[in-house]
Amino acid sequence: MMRKKTLRALIAVAFLIVALITGYGWKENTQPKQVSGTLTVHYLDVGQGDAALIQCDGKSMLIDAGDNSKGTEVRSYLMKQNVETLDLVIGTHGDADHIGGLDVILYNFDCKTVIMPDRKRDTKTYRDVIDTMEHKNYSLTSPKVGDTYSLGEATVEIVAPCGDDYGSNENDYSVGVMITYGESKFLFTGDAEENAEQDMLQTGIDLDCDVYKVSHHGSSNASTSDFLDAILPEYAVISCGEGNDYGHPHAEVLNELRSRGVKVFRTDEQGTVVAVSDGKNITFNMEPSTSWLSGR
Ligand SMILES: [Zn+2]
Repeated sequence: MMRKKTLRALIAVAFLIVALITGYGWKENTQPKQVSGTLTVHYLDVGQGDAALIQCDGKSMLIDAGDNSKGTEVRSYLMKQNVETLDLVIGTHGDADHIGGLDVILYNFDCKTVIMPDRKRDTKTYRDVIDTMEHKNYSLTSPKVGDTYSLGEATVEIVAPCGDDYGSNENDYSVGVMITYGESKFLFTGDAEENAEQDMLQTGIDLDCDVYKVSHHGSSNASTSDFLDAILPEYAVISCGEGNDYGHPHAEVLNELRSRGVKVFRTDEQGTVVAVSDGKNITFNMEPSTSWLSGR
């Protein structure tokens, strides 16, 4: 009898050790963290391009900085929000409509961690960014899926790129992040297209979010129905320029969002969109767009 009990105890201890090592069965740790302030996400109107400023507990982070001509505008916007230091800067990928203005930002603000994908580009825009990094003695951090960074009480988790075999499709190498503040979740995926989205889904990372920065300015080669079904946003923000040459946002994506009851905000129609979360509720500085007009 004693032997059976001892055996059972040993098995229980073994399970406990396995659970401790693998984290299995300890999901209760993933309960939303209690927060005491607010998180503000500014989706800047930079015409055709992306730029977002995220602020929490006196900390600031920037995702992209618009095209080359927008650097000084983004800089002024940051100064108006009293930004002096950027704790985290992400250049989602090397295209000019994302990192064009980044050299101005890197030069003018004290930047702590700078993340860009491991893709060297043969463009003046890219070289300007790298030259500024060297001039300021900053080092580039590679995105690693699952890595987390804190921004005050908010957490920034790297969710993409999940693959490295996208050939010359630079969009698919975009750095993606999930920003979590209490129960509120904001997803950014740069210009990631269908293949990158599929890989994100396959990693098993939780992509369920409240606000989705619509990938690739609302292009139909991104935001596939599989992806939207997995991320299930309540709100979506489209960052694109009025009358842009690409016809963004595309009707297919608008229809996918509309059929899911997603409330859509657009920088081309509405200017800079600002969302504030208290950890439970998210409020915007405007009503959602009701035009559902595609860019083509
Ligand atoms: Zn873009």
